Amino acid sequence: MTVVSLQNVTRTHGEVRALNGVSLDVAPGELVAVMGPSGSGKSTLLNLAGGLDRPTSGTVVIDGHDLAGTADLAALRRGSVGYVFQDLNLIPSLTAAENVMLPRELDGVRTGRARREALTILAEVELDHYADRFPEELSGGQRQRVAIARALVGERRLLLADEPTGALDTATGDEIMRLLRARCDAGAAVLLVTHEPRYAAWADRVVFLRDGEIVDSSAMPMESAR
Ligand code: ADP
Ligand code: MG
Repeated sequence: MTVVSLQNVTRTHGEVRALNGVSLDVAPGELVAVMGPSGSGKSTLLNLAGGLDRPTSGTVVIDGHDLAGTADLAALRRGSVGYVFQDLNLIPSLTAAENVMLPRELDGVRTGRARREALTILAEVELDHYADRFPEELSGGQRQRVAIARALVGERRLLLADEPTGALDTATGDEIMRLLRARCDAGAAVLLVTHEPRYAAWADRVVFLRDGEIVDSSAMPMESAR
């Protein structure tokens, strides 16, 4: 059983083949790092794996749901997928806690419980004292951790992170990796885009993209790096 499965997936934008015949399965408990130069298709791959986009051809199955037969992608995403965007996408008019609560409330979880869940997860990223601040009142690294908390809340089975350690110092980046790894060890599947070998070393497997194709895939027996 895989949490996400891409089979021979191609995504074109006009003449541009952002992704070209990519197949990838991620199992529960597996952390897969995606590396590759700028423009190689990493974000496109994550968007397809998270149901933010549909393939031009090929199949994508998320948590047992084939995207081709799924009308309400938003509901599938909220229930199964936690996503840390490259540009974070925090809502400026909501506090840190409210940003984290939002996907749960959209899923019908009552406000009181959603807030308790948000505070618990914000404590995990050491931001519980900043729960009632707005994004503009937080540093770049703190905002990044709010975005990560929003992706972790609600025990989703698939976590997708597009360079989540980008604006973070090394110690905070390692802390984020420890959180992602712990979710993985609890049964989630994680796809992580990173440029940094330091963070890729936490992965079970590294997939290298170039010009929209997987050019190499290697297991990472690097327990010592953790
Ligand atoms: P990466 O995340 O590795 O930098 P992307 O997945 O963002 O790469 O992009 C892969 C290729 O697809 C690039 O050539 C990019 O310009 C192109 N591309 C991505 N999204 C679009 C889009 N919405 N419209 C046109 N071209 C796009
Ligand atoms: Mg990208």
